[in-house]
Amino acid sequence: MQCQPFQIILDSVTSLTKQQRHILINSLSEQDSSIDLGKAIESSFSLAPKCPHCESEELQRWGFRNNRQRYRCKRCKKTLNAFTNTHLARLHHPEKWSQYLEGMTHSLTLRPAAKACGVTLKTSFRWRHRFLRILEQDQAEELLGITELDETFFRESFKGQRKNLPRPARKRGSDPKSECRLVPVMVARDREKHTTDAVLENESADELCRHLKGRIDIEAVVCMDASLAHEKLARKLGFLFKELVTSAGQHVLEGVFHLQHVNSYHSHLKQWITGVFHGVATRYLSHYLGWRRALTGATALTPDHLFNKILEHVYIQPLRAT
Ligand SMILES: [Zn+2]
Repeated sequence: MQCQPFQIILDSVTSLTKQQRHILINSLSEQDSSIDLGKAIESSFSLAPKCPHCESEELQRWGFRNNRQRYRCKRCKKTLNAFTNTHLARLHHPEKWSQYLEGMTHSLTLRPAAKACGVTLKTSFRWRHRFLRILEQDQAEELLGITELDETFFRESFKGQRKNLPRPARKRGSDPKSECRLVPVMVARDREKHTTDAVLENESADELCRHLKGRIDIEAVVCMDASLAHEKLARKLGFLFKELVTSAGQHVLEGVFHLQHVNSYHSHLKQWITGVFHGVATRYLSHYLGWRRALTGATALTPDHLFNKILEHVYIQPLRAT
């Protein structure tokens, strides 16, 4: 393409709406699967720069640091770049992120992922959990139709934690299971594979409500085990509830209402966490719930899908504290 038509395209970019900018970036990433995620974020930010501290749109360019354009806010006088106050702040080598995301679509563990991208184990760990913080938040917005909800339990784990253990360290294979605290995890999944999950502080209706409020369609029919907490939850959120007394052998109602899909989800989740990662620390369990949710959604998880999730996070949900 000649310079003049290209300049016309470049000039018209500033008048695009937020949605049009996303479409343009997605289209470019489809054209070039090896696109640099960091550069895509920087160029998208440069089209409509906004201060993450005071939301002012009056920013002036303020030199470069670590090959990144810096800006200075005219209102609050703070300096920033395209990654400030996002989960990607202060991460290096963005040109390797796409390759790292590719590994995540195959559940690559830390060491092979580090080796594939030529980064240290520490960086591999840092990247994984920064990306997983984004996936953790990517819960189903609405569960529709027949939905299954059930809790499962994970043994509390302090994997990787060497200091401030709340109990003496145990030798591998010598831990008495009865002494472990069990951590409840809720999974709600509809038959279209929309999923919402959470690590629960307790099994009360209030705690379930905290995670599910606004996420269950008013016309959904929710299958749950019979319990007072579940009955209270159904009353609070006003959805139709099919109560299964599984402890008495009642596993299916009217041929279609059951918990088989969600229980199978629990089982595969546990096999994945134990088999692939040899267990995960409880403090990171919600990250792995998000990863598993992304891997088992209605559409296959691809690097482009992850790429888009990250772009959405950076431009739609900037965070205050990272
Ligand atoms: Zn500002």
